[in-house]
Amino acid sequence: MNKVTIEMPLVSECSVTECAYNVSKNCHARAITVGDSVHPGCDTFMPESRHVKMTQTVAGIGACKTTTCKFNEDFECMTESIRVGMVRNEVNCMTFAMR
Ligand code: SF4
Ligand code: SF4
Repeated sequence: MNKVTIEMPLVSECSVTECAYNVSKNCHARAITVGDSVHPGCDTFMPESRHVKMTQTVAGIGACKTTTCKFNEDFECMTESIRVGMVRNEVNCMTFAMR
């Protein structure tokens, strides 16, 4: 497997424990994708009773499509880290801030 070294913002905390990538309120996907043009949802969310075994990985933000957020530049997240949680039954980036 090829190795890619890249700087990315991190998911510092995720309270969505029913997601397959969540262990102890941390996200262990390699990278998540956030949002559409309006809503900053976590596109990588996958409800599943089994959970990932590789818990050394700290998830980065691979891409964010929510251009209404002030931290979004050129369809990428430019802040240091984000938190993810539930807002009105949707999995959302809690760090989202309207421009
Ligand atoms: S950030 Fe998204 S993919 Fe990661 S654990 Fe939370 S809901 Fe799942
Ligand atoms: S903070 Fe803003 S730009 Fe970063 S992932 Fe969340 S919604 Fe996207």
